[in-house]
Amino acid sequence: MAIEIPFRREFSFEYGRLEPVAPMIRRIVARNPSPFTFKGTGTYVIGRGDVAVIDPGPDLPEHVEALLAGLKGERVTHILITHTHRDHSPAAQPLKMMTGAPTYGFGPHAGGNRGDPAVEEGGDWDFVPDVVVRDGDRIAGHGWVFEAIHTPGHTSNHLCFALSGSGVLFSGDHVMGWSTSVIAPPDGDMAAYMASLDKLLGRSDQIYWPTHGPAITEPEAHLRAFIAHRQEREAGILDCLHAGIGRIDAIVERLYIGLQPALRRAAGRSVHAHLVDLVARGIVESEGRPTLDGSYRISRL
Ligand SMILES: [Zn+2]
Repeated sequence: MAIEIPFRREFSFEYGRLEPVAPMIRRIVARNPSPFTFKGTGTYVIGRGDVAVIDPGPDLPEHVEALLAGLKGERVTHILITHTHRDHSPAAQPLKMMTGAPTYGFGPHAGGNRGDPAVEEGGDWDFVPDVVVRDGDRIAGHGWVFEAIHTPGHTSNHLCFALSGSGVLFSGDHVMGWSTSVIAPPDGDMAAYMASLDKLLGRSDQIYWPTHGPAITEPEAHLRAFIAHRQEREAGILDCLHAGIGRIDAIVERLYIGLQPALRRAAGRSVHAHLVDLVARGIVESEGRPTLDGSYRISRL
């Protein structure tokens, strides 16, 4: 029986307008809709007067201009980055130039190489944070304090930011309401992703604001559904391997019924992520290195 994920896709906003969405929180959505970004990147502004910006977004000058127009008379003091994908961090550079605010992030893009075929929006290889943020670090501004939570999986440098004393968590691409997250090796890591879901289950945040799509108001139900969904996917992959289906494209064919063609490659990367994890756990073996076009079978040991 398929796991039901309580997806949230009702999303009201206007492109190019910085709009209040909760006390202390405003959001402006960039016009970069895609099968991986939903309606586009949601850039958040926290506070009033002296403010923090989370995920300035893609390299779209109109987006940065609209953000700054919405912040007329206010001052950006911090630029926070959840992770280095091209729909999240590139606008940090122009925003920093225009405001003088330092950037905060876990580190530069890691895993793979510049020029690797891009899944999702691809890596932003140019971003280097001014301030390196580690798990548990606190970032304080005017009227707000964030706690950084390292949540590797979607990327190795992914951070969520909890707004202290509010029950609010900015969940980036780690937990989204509209979709599951893309986990694509080598930077994406299924075991790390599952551990990062567990890490958030151990917290008591009340509402998540992801970078794409609407807020998640029952985060625990979402976390449990995502964990169950991946466990179900893993079981499906093992069933395929038991049936002698050992190549990723054939596994995708079997498991992803009714998949949009645009998402086929991402599905293959996700199956690959599961297989890399299963090989690391000794449950599955591959002929040679566990690559995207490799051949896999149940381990005979
Ligand atoms: Zn991403």
